[in-house]
Amino acid sequence: MIPFNKPSIVGNELEYIQDAVKRGKISGDGYYTNLCNDFFREKFSFSNPLLTTSCTSALEMTALLMDIKEGDEIIAPSYTFVSTVNAYILQGAKVVFIDSMENDPNMDVSLIEKLITPKTKAIIAVHYAGISVDMDYLVELCKKHNLYLVEDCAQAIDSFYKGKRLGTFGQFSAFSFHETKNIICGEGGLLVVNDDKFADRAEIIREKGTNRSLFFRGEIDKYGWVDKGSSYLPSDLLAAYLFAQLENIDKIQSKRKYLWNLYYRELKELYDLKYIQLPIIPEDNVNNAHMFYIVLPDLQTRTNLIKYLKEKGIYAVFHYQSLHRSEYMVKNNFSEEVLINSDRFSDCLLRLPLFYELTEEDVLYIAKEIKLFFNGKI
Ligand SMILES: *Cc1c(COP(=O)(O)O)cnc(C)c1O
Repeated sequence: MIPFNKPSIVGNELEYIQDAVKRGKISGDGYYTNLCNDFFREKFSFSNPLLTTSCTSALEMTALLMDIKEGDEIIAPSYTFVSTVNAYILQGAKVVFIDSMENDPNMDVSLIEKLITPKTKAIIAVHYAGISVDMDYLVELCKKHNLYLVEDCAQAIDSFYKGKRLGTFGQFSAFSFHETKNIICGEGGLLVVNDDKFADRAEIIREKGTNRSLFFRGEIDKYGWVDKGSSYLPSDLLAAYLFAQLENIDKIQSKRKYLWNLYYRELKELYDLKYIQLPIIPEDNVNNAHMFYIVLPDLQTRTNLIKYLKEKGIYAVFHYQSLHRSEYMVKNNFSEEVLINSDRFSDCLLRLPLFYELTEEDVLYIAKEIKLFFNGKI
């Protein structure tokens, strides 16, 4: 069987975990956490990187940093993961959902401005499949209306828009190292604070509302409770795994890009025949090969294809169900929106296996089976 995903070991992951144990400190902010943060500062030029327990917790930290409260509104896509909006719901915000574009699951930024109200606090941009939202437009829009811009970069590590790294456009960005992402440690995340004026408070919120980080750096002589916060530090064991992955990021990325391009080349014929839609990478983007998806004409075809591929030993999986139509949102009367593109991607998008150990033969086999599925229908 070819699984949909398989967590990778590409370098010294296991050795570093052992080493972390030997160093006698496996809680947060140990040796490997610092190495990871240094990596992001030096190699990615992120000004204030903070490892977190997940992308979800990094997003929750942004809600606290922006002082989101009851009555505030945030604007976000409907075609995304729950955490993109749940982080703000937890603080009492109302979510205004934006539809996807017709040919791209990313949100249609042209729909945003007319939905901005005096209560709007922030726009949450999600770079679906690592492909960038129109950041020039969003940065300007947020400036014009004095809104925060948060980038949900869970899928967007090592992606660029007009030569600038994703995660550096908004005041905050949040990355994920969940085992399904490009760079992994099981469960893990990163908050990037691009606006220095929030950097100290971010450290405090991450340390249960205490100024313990300042204390450990010797900047104060005792630490205490100074703000709201929670426990957002990952164990150094996870950072050890993550650091080994970061050391090999070029190797991981070039393999993923190779497989992605192979899929594209092999399936282009079906696209030309209009059986399927393929991802569109805008010219000003660098694709990080996070995901390879195809879009089928309807739900029935997708269901049939999933079943067909399973019989051939291939696990392909669909993705998000529109959040504005989720049980939670419907129960809370937030469900008036009609977002046809988001619903269509919910019904028709299919993700194909893509992971570091996947081989060229696997991709050729998967593409061949998808072509056979459609040939049978002619
Ligand atoms: C994976 C993902 C998340 C959640 O990441 P965790 O690290 O599992 O919390 C959030 N948003 C998007 C768009 C994701 O793909």
